[in-house]
Amino acid sequence: MKHHTSHATSRRAFLGTAAASAIAAPLSASAQTPAPGSEDMTYEVTRTEEEWRALLSDEEYRIMRAQGTEPRFSSRYVDEDSAGHFQCKGCDLTIYDSEWKTPRLIGWVFFYHARRDSVLLDIDEWPAVMAGDEDMAESQFVTEAHCRRCGSHLGHMIQVQGDLLHCINGASLTFVAGDAS
Ligand SMILES: [Zn+2]
Repeated sequence: MKHHTSHATSRRAFLGTAAASAIAAPLSASAQTPAPGSEDMTYEVTRTEEEWRALLSDEEYRIMRAQGTEPRFSSRYVDEDSAGHFQCKGCDLTIYDSEWKTPRLIGWVFFYHARRDSVLLDIDEWPAVMAGDEDMAESQFVTEAHCRRCGSHLGHMIQVQGDLLHCINGASLTFVAGDAS
């Protein structure tokens, strides 16, 4: 419960941004973003199932489009410590900067923050593959994080060793070395 305030702040920030972009962006009516939680939610980048299958590997599809979680230490980004930024593999939106990456020897890719307005939140059940780790504060439900632009599943917001972190599947990301854009 002690993180209620931070979640509430994120939600308010999103609501404000959604309202602003609806005014500023000359999108067609069908592409406008409705209120969070609406069943009419439409993402800025959409693809057919065939297009997603063509774009992603089977494992990436399982994670990004079916809310899966990659096996521990399966991503080379777990140990990636170069300067650069991480993009959503589904739409190339820059989401994480390397300066916010924090190495936690648990098996996934951890960040303190995402870029402004790059991530949306949902609710998910605690992934079975992440069960039984004393470094993570396990609970029945967990906050899910997905790409604001294409809706692809990234990972979860999790309390790890006392820090609230983005616990992300490396399979959902593409690392770009060098100055962040
Ligand atoms: Zn995306």
